[in-house]
Amino acid sequence: MITRSPALVQRAPTEEAQPLAMTPAWQSQLARAVRDPRELCRRLRLDPAWLPGAETGHRLFEVRVPEAFLARMRPGDPADPLLRQVLPLDAEAAPTPGYVSDPLAEAEHTPQRGLIHKYAGRVLLIASPACAVNCRYCFRRHFPYAENSPSRAQWEQTLDHLRDDTSIREAILSGGDPLAASDRQLAWLVERLDAIPHLKRLRIHTRLPVVIPDRVDAGLLDWLTATRLQTVVVLHSNHANEIDDAVIAACRRLTQAGATLLNQSVLLRGVNDSVEALAALSERLFEARVLPYYLHMLDPVAGAAHFDVPEFEARELVAGLRESLPGFLVPKLVREIPGEASKTPL
Ligand code: SF4
Repeated sequence: MITRSPALVQRAPTEEAQPLAMTPAWQSQLARAVRDPRELCRRLRLDPAWLPGAETGHRLFEVRVPEAFLARMRPGDPADPLLRQVLPLDAEAAPTPGYVSDPLAEAEHTPQRGLIHKYAGRVLLIASPACAVNCRYCFRRHFPYAENSPSRAQWEQTLDHLRDDTSIREAILSGGDPLAASDRQLAWLVERLDAIPHLKRLRIHTRLPVVIPDRVDAGLLDWLTATRLQTVVVLHSNHANEIDDAVIAACRRLTQAGATLLNQSVLLRGVNDSVEALAALSERLFEARVLPYYLHMLDPVAGAAHFDVPEFEARELVAGLRESLPGFLVPKLVREIPGEASKTPL
């Protein structure tokens, strides 16, 4: 089974254990996430016929769904767009030509543990191997996180790569989900990034404020407001139903802390493959003061072929969006092609 480490509160080798009374609410929610396909089917009142497929998919990439995200799904509806993102299926076990374990060839761009340097001027740091939710379409569902989870001493070596390369202007925290790391760990890392004079920006790619809005708490805002770096938070949301009032409030806390908020989505069959769904997402994002940034074509990762939407259809959807929304609410349709100097606009 492809497994990722559970929440950092349970596994971080570089952290001291915190007394239970001090465990932030979001970490408790993370620890209590649904991780059993049987429980997921029971809670969503799915017909038992879904269970064997869910167990098959779970053996390939484990189920993880936090309560706060589960609560936004419609019980009894296997077509619910949020459920479809997290429900394992039989189809994940079917090999599909062209769908591979490392679709973006990231292994070729990993000069140091926990660091991916693909594009000029910016580097990506794997700040946490954990995620709050396991998305079935994830292009890193097979990523070797165990080989890319540096200790603090190894982090110093990784940071030397940034210190030595003065062309790097931006550090991107990724994962997993970087906000699955504890605030103490993140504050430590951001303080070191802060001290690298040629760095200008800190970008954080995260799904946590969407799936567990309580993640945006005082502990997070402390280090986010302490840095001199300009901060950009790129959320990952695929459907308007994901953005409830708690998510909007979390986004407000981030903007008040000075962060620029953007969103990236993945175009997914059965989730957001209509003009109506994509337009509703853009409108809802803007209510949360988040600008739609990218609409990604699915990366061809093994186990996710059933989510694919062909390129001609994607172009038609974006053309439809242009007719119904102002330009600033239309995300850029892009595909990531291994070896290219940037994402490829379509
Ligand atoms: S939160 Fe992001 S990194 Fe984690 S499983 Fe979902 S898509 Fe993948």
